[in-house]
Amino acid sequence: MAKFSALVKKNDIITMKFEDLTHDGNGVAKQDGYPIFVPYGLPGELARVKVVKVNKNYGFGKLLEVLEKSPERVTPPCDVFYRCGGCQIQHMSYDLQLKMKHEQVKNVMRKIAKLDEVPVHPVRGMEDPWRYRNKVAIPVGEKDGELITGFYRMRSHDIIPDMDACIVQDEVNDRMIEAVRSIANRLGIRAYDEKKDRGVLRHVMVRTGHTTGETMIVIITRTEKLPHQAELVRQLTETYPQIKSIMHNINPKRTNVIMGRKTKLLYGAAYIYDSIGDILFAISAKSFYQVNPIQTEVLYSQALEYAQIDKNDIVIDAYCGIGTISLFLAQRAKKVYGVEIVPDAVEDAKQNAKLNGITNTEFVVGEAEKVMPWWKAQGLNPDVIVVDPPRKGCDEALLNAMIGMQPKRIVYVSCNPSTLARDLRILEDGGYTTKEVQPVDMFPQSVHVECVALMSRE
Ligand code: SAH
Repeated sequence: MAKFSALVKKNDIITMKFEDLTHDGNGVAKQDGYPIFVPYGLPGELARVKVVKVNKNYGFGKLLEVLEKSPERVTPPCDVFYRCGGCQIQHMSYDLQLKMKHEQVKNVMRKIAKLDEVPVHPVRGMEDPWRYRNKVAIPVGEKDGELITGFYRMRSHDIIPDMDACIVQDEVNDRMIEAVRSIANRLGIRAYDEKKDRGVLRHVMVRTGHTTGETMIVIITRTEKLPHQAELVRQLTETYPQIKSIMHNINPKRTNVIMGRKTKLLYGAAYIYDSIGDILFAISAKSFYQVNPIQTEVLYSQALEYAQIDKNDIVIDAYCGIGTISLFLAQRAKKVYGVEIVPDAVEDAKQNAKLNGITNTEFVVGEAEKVMPWWKAQGLNPDVIVVDPPRKGCDEALLNAMIGMQPKRIVYVSCNPSTLARDLRILEDGGYTTKEVQPVDMFPQSVHVECVALMSRE
C-alpha cells in the first residue's frame, strides 16, 4: 500500500474541499486520497487548511480560512465557543447537527452491531436548542486577586476568565453562579489553586427544577470548613427566594472528580423537587438526574412506548438513578425492581415512590452487573427489562444475566451509540432482535446523542 502520508507534511498549507463529517464534528478532506480531519470544517466547503499532525493513514488539520462557505455554517452565538470545550458544534445549523447524529447512530449500527437493516429513526430534536440544561458545575479560580468562574479552556485546566453566561444553561443557573462568585468574593473566600493544591473554593454546582423553579446550590471546597458560611448562606437566600437547598461538599483530594464523599446541609432541604409528566421527583446533590428536562420527556415517553407494559408485567429498571423511569413503568406494571450504585440516589428513588403514592416498586443499592445475576438466581423472571447505563455501557455479566432471564422485551436507553451497538450485538447473539432505534437530542450544540433501542425475543 502506498504510504499516503509521504505526500502530506506537517505545516503544509493546502486548499481542500470537505467531503464528509465525522461523528465528533470534524470535516474530512482528502489530499491525494489521504484523509485529513479538520475541526470546524463543513461538508461542501472549500478551505485553506494547515496540516498539524500526520499519521500513517490520516492526518489532522487546522482551519485557516473558509473560501466557500456551506449554507449550514452559522456564526456561533456564544462568545467563548472556540475556546471552551463544552459545546463542539455551535458552528453548524441545528439541522446539520441532527443529521450528523443520525449518521453516527446509523454507522455504529452497521459497523459495530452488524445490523444493516435495523430502522434508525431521524433524531428527535428540540424546537429551541438553547438554554436547555438544568444543571451546571463550574470551576472557581482567581485572577488578579478576584474570584473567577468559568469552564476550562479546551484541553486544559485554565479557566476562561471572561465567561459570564453559558447559553445552553438555564438562565437562572447563570445568575446563581454569578451570585455565589460575587458574594464569596466580597467575603474574601479564596479559590482552590489546583497547581499548589491550596485554597478553598473548588466548584459551584447549581441545579434548578424545570417545572418547580426550585434551585439547589452545592458549594464544593477542599477544606472541611467553609469560611463565612453563615453570611454566604444569608446573603444568597435573602436575595434569591428560589434557593431551596444549599449543600456543602468537601473534596480534599487532588482529583478531577468534582465532588468528594462528604456532603453537609447548610440551608433548606437536602433535595429539590422537579416533575416530569405527572410524577414529582426529589433530587439530592449526588443523584443523577437528566440534564435536559424537555427532551427527558421525549426520551422517557419513547422508552415507555417501547416497553409496552401491561398490568401483569414484572419489570426491571437497571441503572435506575432516582427511579425516574421506574416510576413511569410502575404506573402500568405489576411490579418494578430498580438497581442503582449510588446510595443517595436509591434513597431518593424510595422517597419518590412514596411521594407519588406508588407502592409496587423495590429499589436496591448495588452494581447492576452483580445484582442482576443475583436476582436471576433468586428466580426473578421479568417480562421486560429496561437498562440505562453510563457511557461505558453494560457489563457483560449483566448482558448475560438478561439473556438468561429471557424477558419478552429489552428497552436499552443509551448516551453512547458505540457501546449501545456493542451491547446490542451481544444481545442479538443471545437470541434478541433489535426492532428499532430512536435517537433523541438531549445535548444540542454538543456531539453527544442519546438513543432508545427496542429488542424483543422471537
Ligand atoms: N435511568 C436514570 C439514570 C440513568 S444514568 C435516569 O434516567 O435518570 C446512569 C445511572 O447508572 C446513574 O445513576 C449511575 O449512578 C448509575 N450507575 C453507574 N454504574 C452503575 C453500576 N455498575 N450499577 C448500577 N448503577 C450504576
